[in-house]
Amino acid sequence: MKAKTDLRDLTYSRLSEYMEGLGLPSSRARFVFAWLQRPGTRDFSQMVDVKREILAALAEHAVISSLVPAAVEKSRDGTVKFAFALEDGAVVESVLIPEKGRHTLCVSSQAGCAMGCRFCLTGGMGFSRNLRPAEIVGQVLAVMEYMIDVGVVRTTPRELINNLVFMGMGEPLANYDNLIAALRILMDERGLEFTERRITVSTCGIVPRIRDLGNDIRVNLAVSLHAADDETRSRIMPVNKTYGLDDLLAACRSFPLPGKKVILFEYILIKGINDAGDDARRLAEKLQGIPCRINLLPYNATKSLDYQCPEEEHILQFQKILRDAGYRTFIRSSRGADISAACGQLASTGAKDEQT
Ligand code: SAH
Ligand code: SF4
Repeated sequence: MKAKTDLRDLTYSRLSEYMEGLGLPSSRARFVFAWLQRPGTRDFSQMVDVKREILAALAEHAVISSLVPAAVEKSRDGTVKFAFALEDGAVVESVLIPEKGRHTLCVSSQAGCAMGCRFCLTGGMGFSRNLRPAEIVGQVLAVMEYMIDVGVVRTTPRELINNLVFMGMGEPLANYDNLIAALRILMDERGLEFTERRITVSTCGIVPRIRDLGNDIRVNLAVSLHAADDETRSRIMPVNKTYGLDDLLAACRSFPLPGKKVILFEYILIKGINDAGDDARRLAEKLQGIPCRINLLPYNATKSLDYQCPEEEHILQFQKILRDAGYRTFIRSSRGADISAACGQLASTGAKDEQT
C-alpha cells in the first residue's frame, strides 16, 4: 500500500496541487493550510470550515504528523530545551530562549551532523538523517503548543515566537530542499507568516548552497567562521578543505543584502587556537567590505573535547581589535549551559556531555 502523504510536508502550492490531484477543489487549500500551520491541529475533524467530504477524502490518502516533546528541560536562566523523538527513533532538540519578553527558537535541521567540526558535540555524534519539512515546522508548532500550555499569552499563535534561528542540530544547507520547503511553509502569509527579518539560517560554509539560498529565498544568513586563515579553519572545520575561506567570503560578498541587512559572522573563541590578536587583525582584514556583524562566542567547554575558553580579558581584547577596525562586534554568552542547551552542546544520542 502506498504510504500516506504527510500534509505538514507540503508548501501551500504543493498542497493545492495535491488536492487537485485528488479531484478536490484547490480553492479549499488555503483553509486546510491555515489549519495545518496552527498549533494544536492533530486531526482533520478540527477543520470546521472545510466540507466533510473534502476532509474524508484527505483522511483517506493523507495524515497530519505532529511532534510531541519526549523531554522538556528548563534552565536556571529560563532557556527551555525540548527533545523530540521522531518516528524512526532519531532524536532532535530545539531550544527556546526568552529575552526581554521576546522569544527566540533555535531549531534543528538534521539528526546529527556530517560536517565533523572538531569543537562541536553535534558533529561528534555523526550524521543520522535529514529532517523532513514537517519535522522542522513541527518543532515550531510543538514549542508554540508548550508556550500556550504554560500560559504565554499572545493575540495570535504567530506572535508567540519572535525569531527563528536554524542553529540547532545539523547543517541546514546540507538539507537544502527540505530547508527551503520548511522556510516557505513557515513564511507563508496564510500560515505562521514569519517574515524574512525574523529568520536566520546558520551555515558552516557550504558555498554553492549559500549562492542558491541567496537566489531562492530571503532570510538572514549567519556564517560560522571561527578562523581567519585556511590552515586554522581546516584544522577545526573539515568543510574548509572543500570550500576555502576566500571562496566562502566571495559567496558572502555576493549574497543579496537589501536595505540595512548584514551577514552575521559567528566566531567561537577557543584558547590557543584562534584567539590571538593577530587572528583578530586578520579577521578584520578578511571581512573588509562585507556588511556584517560579528558575534564572538566564548567556547562552551565540554569534558569530552580538549578545548578551552579564553580568559574574559582576552576575549575583551579580541573584541576591541575588531571594534577599533569598525566592526559591530558582540560577545554572546550561550544560554542554557546547565541543561546542555548551549551552542554546540546539542547531542542527544549518547554523546551528551557534562559541562566542565
Ligand atoms: N551547522 C550550522 C548550524 C549550527 S549553529 C553551523 O555550524 O553554523 C551552532 C553554532 O554553535 C555554530 O556557530 C557552531 O559553530 C557553534 N558551536 C558549536 N560548538 C560550540 C561550542 N562548543 N561552543 C560555542 N559554540 C559552539
Ligand atoms: Fe555541524 Fe554546525 Fe556542529 Fe559543524 S558546528 S558539526 S556544521 S552543527
